[in-house]
Amino acid sequence: MKVDTSPTGSFRVIAGTISITLICVAIAVFVDSFNFTNLTEDAIRRSLLVDIFLPTFLAGPLLFVLLRKVQQLAISHRELSIIASTDSLTAVLNRGAFTLLVESYLARAEEHAALRSGSLLVIDADHFKEINDSLGHQQGDEALKIIAETIKRSLRQADIVGRIGGEEFGVFLPGAAAAEASEIAERIRDVICKTVFPLKSNLCRLSVSVGGVSFNRQASYDELFSRADSCLYAAKEKGRNRVDLVYL
Ligand code: GH3
Ligand code: MG
Ligand code: MG
Repeated sequence: MKVDTSPTGSFRVIAGTISITLICVAIAVFVDSFNFTNLTEDAIRRSLLVDIFLPTFLAGPLLFVLLRKVQQLAISHRELSIIASTDSLTAVLNRGAFTLLVESYLARAEEHAALRSGSLLVIDADHFKEINDSLGHQQGDEALKIIAETIKRSLRQADIVGRIGGEEFGVFLPGAAAAEASEIAERIRDVICKTVFPLKSNLCRLSVSVGGVSFNRQASYDELFSRADSCLYAAKEKGRNRVDLVYL
């Protein structure tokens, strides 16, 4: 289990320990103060010392250990969530996480009309089987990483990208109308096509076809995906290395 050794992480644990210990001391003094009227000055002093030292030396260390453990669990939980939602080869979201995020955006759009617009792109590597067959599976993996990197670099911060199949990527562009989606898709297609691959040679065998759909009404993920997938099929039919977009 990892420990957050960053200054802010340690500071939070120490600050939490001190704050809760002080609260314990205050409660002990408050509860004890009801007996003070019957006690001598000396007895009150002794009582106060017990109220201060007992929580400080018993609760303090215990709290520190407890808060440290809670912090470790929070870090592990965050790391596991990232691992569970990330595609290990390309470091973009995996299919499940991508679908979940897009679906939750579309569910929020049911309540907020302003969210009812955007575009979904499906990007598929062309003739990828041939790349594997001629250059080997490892080079195929490298090609997938290049495609994922190119897609990520072409997107805005709010956009969502995931690997939704072996050599297929999904891109969700919240609020992007058809013109903007088309520009992004064309840029991705163009950069990938001009990428020198495999490295050190100049074969330029890499290309992608893109199918996409733009919407400005309430829509479901299945509806959007089905339209984008049909466009991808059309782009493949028309010769590949092209973008095909429709309005919903
Ligand atoms: P098309 O242009 O019609 O999309 O042709 P394609 O060859 O890309 O499509 P097809 O579905 O026939 O083949 C997809 C290939 O992608 C076959 C599969 O071995 C390869 N592939 C899927 N996942 C991976 C992966 O993780 N790594 C590598 N290297 N190859 C993969
Ligand atoms: Mg393909
Ligand atoms: Mg495919």
